[in-house]
Amino acid sequence: MITRSSKRRPIASWQAQLRDAYRDPRELLADLGLDPESLGLGAKAAEHFPFLVTRAFASRMQPGDVNDPLLLQVLPHAAELSSAPGFSDDPVGEFSLGENSSVLRKYSGRALVLASSSCAINCRYCFRRNYPYEAHRGSDALENGLAELRADTSINEVILSGGDPLVLSDAKLDQYLTRLADIGHLRRLRIHSRLPIVLPDRLTAALLRMLSRQRFEAVMVVHCNHPQELDASTLEGLRRMRDAGITVLNQAVLLHRVNDDAEVLATLGERLFSAGTLPYYLHLLDRVSGTAHFDLNESRISQLQRELRARVPGYLMPRFVRELAGGDAKTPFG
Ligand SMILES: *Cc1c(COP(=O)(O)O)cnc(C)c1O
Ligand code: SF4
Repeated sequence: MITRSSKRRPIASWQAQLRDAYRDPRELLADLGLDPESLGLGAKAAEHFPFLVTRAFASRMQPGDVNDPLLLQVLPHAAELSSAPGFSDDPVGEFSLGENSSVLRKYSGRALVLASSSCAINCRYCFRRNYPYEAHRGSDALENGLAELRADTSINEVILSGGDPLVLSDAKLDQYLTRLADIGHLRRLRIHSRLPIVLPDRLTAALLRMLSRQRFEAVMVVHCNHPQELDASTLEGLRRMRDAGITVLNQAVLLHRVNDDAEVLATLGERLFSAGTLPYYLHLLDRVSGTAHFDLNESRISQLQRELRARVPGYLMPRFVRELAGGDAKTPFG
């Protein structure tokens, strides 16, 4: 893997690592010993949804392997340019929710705050790759969202999401936490983030202190799809969160050629558990335009579910769910 030969752990700050992320797929291909020209029409796909990968994540890719399961998640592909029946820009009906508000309320008791519009890595299968963030950002949208949270005492859990909320500075996160802590009926704070996986150095001592000192019961839901994403520094970060009193869960997305294999999913759950993290959801792909090449048919999904259930203890069995427009919770599959 790329940095193995250099032996050196990156000592740059997480902000510097974020700035230094790969933004040209050809550069990543070259570093992996692959032909940059093999990108082909993928270059065009990257014009619609930019290419972005941290070096920490890329360092876990296998050089010379065009089918590397981590590379497949991030490499723009010509197939993204074709339309497919049943795939659209907003399959889960989120675009119209919460007009001029940074808060999305779909399910009872929980509200999701769009705290950031960017990520540390752009996953090609992303359900928000076409999301009109502009309508939900800005200070008006934040004030409107906070007003909604204050007004509805049935909401007891707030979820910081995005984008990825951990790309925000500690100061900005602290502002969020302080303002949310003022809303008495909120009991739990949940953060949905892929940074603990793709940029483990984001989990600074200062961040963990901030998260463990606030008044909420804290939950971190990370996003890891394949056991190869879990190197030593990532596992250590997961353990440190748990040691800080945070409940750590994982959500994954079921992806053709990446993790559609019961053995891979079983290993993922076991490796997460070794670092104190439980599998939570295994999301079936949202039918977002440009992602059809990651899709699996239902009989294959059922088969995987049966095979995985036969392999792992119940507590390592993720819930297979689909997000449907208008549902009152994620819809269980099978
Ligand atoms: C997925 C989701 C949640 C959280 O659902 P849980 O089942 O509690 O994990 C909350 N709000 C929105 C808009 C969501 O999409
Ligand atoms: S980290 Fe999450 S929100 Fe960001 S691109 Fe990947 S799947 Fe989408």
